[in-house]
Amino acid sequence: MIDLHDIPSATPCYVYDMGLLRNTIAEVKRNIEGFPYDVHYAIKANYVPIILGEIAASGLGADLVSGPELHAALEAGFKPTRLAFSGVGKTDDEIIAGIDNGIFCFNVESFPELQNISNLAVSRGLTANVAIRVNPNINAHTHKYVTTGVAENKFGINLNLLDKIVDMALELPYIHLRGLHFHIGSQIMTKRPYKLLCDKVNELQDRFNARGIEFEMINVGGGLGVDYDNPDEHAIPDFEGFFNVFKQYLNLRAGQRLHFEFGRSIVAQCGTLISRVLYIKDNGNKKFVILDAGMTDLIRPALYQSHHIIENITSASRHIESYDVVGPVCESGDVFGRDEQLPITQRGDIIAIRTAGAYGESMASCYNMRALPRHCCI
Ligand SMILES: *Cc1c(COP(=O)(O)O)cnc(C)c1O
Repeated sequence: MIDLHDIPSATPCYVYDMGLLRNTIAEVKRNIEGFPYDVHYAIKANYVPIILGEIAASGLGADLVSGPELHAALEAGFKPTRLAFSGVGKTDDEIIAGIDNGIFCFNVESFPELQNISNLAVSRGLTANVAIRVNPNINAHTHKYVTTGVAENKFGINLNLLDKIVDMALELPYIHLRGLHFHIGSQIMTKRPYKLLCDKVNELQDRFNARGIEFEMINVGGGLGVDYDNPDEHAIPDFEGFFNVFKQYLNLRAGQRLHFEFGRSIVAQCGTLISRVLYIKDNGNKKFVILDAGMTDLIRPALYQSHHIIENITSASRHIESYDVVGPVCESGDVFGRDEQLPITQRGDIIAIRTAGAYGESMASCYNMRALPRHCCI
């Protein structure tokens, strides 16, 4: 919980709890100790330099989706050999930067991309390491914008084309095929999709092994969900339960390594968006709390219909009122919560929006020519 004396005077501002970040990373590391597992942090969830530095120093790798993220990762101290580069639309410049830096692998999403990586690797005279991103057609049962592993999504190679692209990767010059990559979605709250993923990986490995093809690694991506409704009770996600699914069900081959890519589960609970109440507006049958933070600072409620716990951390009132909590942006979707039960709230009060460390500040925009939110680490 944020102490009042930690509250910055200028709002809106993200406040990051670095102690919780360290404890979260420690819990990840505790669960992989003694296993041939490698964890990458998905930089797109939050790329505040201090946070990247902390995660890099802990020894985790990173998962990137753009050239600027590659540079941020190197700047923060991540080793190139621990970087995986995902995304359906990598540009030539981005691929060349990855090749020149000798990154761990490109997660390849299409035939023309694989061909292009090979062409660019040949032109540099350097080998490019790749994994084939498979679309396993597993429904993660999460919001439609964060489901990535069913056939209608743009991500990955469909199962019926997998043999063909693996054969192509084995034949193309200056391509080194490390293995298969999967990422089925985000904010996944049940173990079942991961169990189905293990079954699919086992089936595919059996099939490829029977053809004499072996992989040095499997990457099962991320997507582990966090508890947006109970940030204090579940400040650290259930990594143990998550890893146990893979320990129990995924048949790793001798010498093979298993990679994971966590974004949200590492940083979400560490971040709180702190905002000030500008006005209380009473239209007769509804009261609105109008904040100085809006969807430009935290777009998740507007984009994914998600809900974050909202707290008034300055009101001393013991009377509860019902409010719609909204931002100042000129969009009807700029709403953080409807019928929120808050103590009597007044202009100048400080509002905390919890579990905002992932896909919060990193998705901020300047719509309405608003300034980007500030941040501080405590
Ligand atoms: C975004 C992303 C992740 C991280 O997802 P989370 O739900 O934040 O854990 C992992 N892998 C890939 C390829 C991604 O695009």
